[in-house]
Amino acid sequence: TVVCLFLTVLVLRGTVGAGRFGTPQQDLIELRQHFVSHPHRALAEHHDARSRGSATTTTTTTSSSSSGRGDDEPDPPPRTLRDPPYTLGPKITDWDEQRAAWHRRHLETPPFLNDVKPRVLLVTGSSPKPCENPVGDHYLLKSIKNKIDYCRVHGIEIFYNMALLDAEMAGFWAKLPLIRALLLAHPEVEFLWWMDSDAMFTDMAFELPWERYGPYNLVMHGWDEMVYDDKNWIGLNTGSFLLRNCQWSLDMLDTWAPMGPKGPVRIEAGKVLTKSLKDRPVFEADDQSAMVYILATQREKWGDKVYLENGYYLHGYWGILVDRYEEMLENYKPGLGDHRWPLVTHFVGCKPCGKFGDYPVE
Ligand code: UDP
Ligand code: MN
Repeated sequence: TVVCLFLTVLVLRGTVGAGRFGTPQQDLIELRQHFVSHPHRALAEHHDARSRGSATTTTTTTSSSSSGRGDDEPDPPPRTLRDPPYTLGPKITDWDEQRAAWHRRHLETPPFLNDVKPRVLLVTGSSPKPCENPVGDHYLLKSIKNKIDYCRVHGIEIFYNMALLDAEMAGFWAKLPLIRALLLAHPEVEFLWWMDSDAMFTDMAFELPWERYGPYNLVMHGWDEMVYDDKNWIGLNTGSFLLRNCQWSLDMLDTWAPMGPKGPVRIEAGKVLTKSLKDRPVFEADDQSAMVYILATQREKWGDKVYLENGYYLHGYWGILVDRYEEMLENYKPGLGDHRWPLVTHFVGCKPCGKFGDYPVE
């Protein structure tokens, strides 16, 4: 063993060197540096930091990691009803002028592709985290593939978002900050088409009847009577809708957003919505109920620019469609776009990405 040790030191001295002075002390320092500052050490430190980090995050909520703050920073307390209402950002009042000026400088990207067909951006997205149910990620992949295919056929741009832009607006409210940011970032786009990740095109050939929407800024699937007369919470659906890029839409988003912040605000707003809307179950405020509520209570302000479409399924509820696909395949051809062949089938409530949907994944 002693001979072996002697030989080892000799070899190491040959490879590492003995430093300027060659003292045993210097040798020791050099040897330590040579072996201890190994890449593994960086990995070990990284690992260490991560385990420390995860230990501290157990005391914070998941939003702190998704909002991108450091692990050491505690979550701010949730917004309460005594705090100022939530806003999507600084108030903008001259978007139509700003956008028109932008278009004067960018003649290469006109807002309309021909007389009636607007430049459209389809926007969809899903949570930054993997699905709780692994097969959900497989469905998300199928679903984005399906949308890419439709967009390619119809000359539509597509944007997939997985960031949570504002931790307060988690869940189904996440689309609001995203939509506003995209309207402002894409003045070339005339209509933004929001589509839920659980909504899929089931008629690849159907082109939207754009000429119908000339005078309107917001197009959703729904029925006037169910929204304005009955105030029914399913009188319209916000899983697939068109929003024009204009000041009116920014104002609508500003009006729509304040019920969204998670915590007491969303919970209390949910109570108001359940009390005011027909057949709404008891649960926190959702973006769809909030839209019904705004339209039903402020029809004179917004109603003339909102088109509730029911001539075809801009959104189609899966429950009344999926058992009839074979029948529709036999009797009709795609491209007709009315209720004979649903443009969109929306798997509302199925939550394929979550652990607990209202229905089994199959
Ligand atoms: N969503 C998102 N980020 C999130 C959570 C949800 O972009 O962190 C989007 C996603 O596209 C989803 C939509 O919000 O489809 C609405 O939620 P969901 O479809 O589960 O509601 P439902 O249609 O069942 O009421
Ligand atoms: Mn959905």
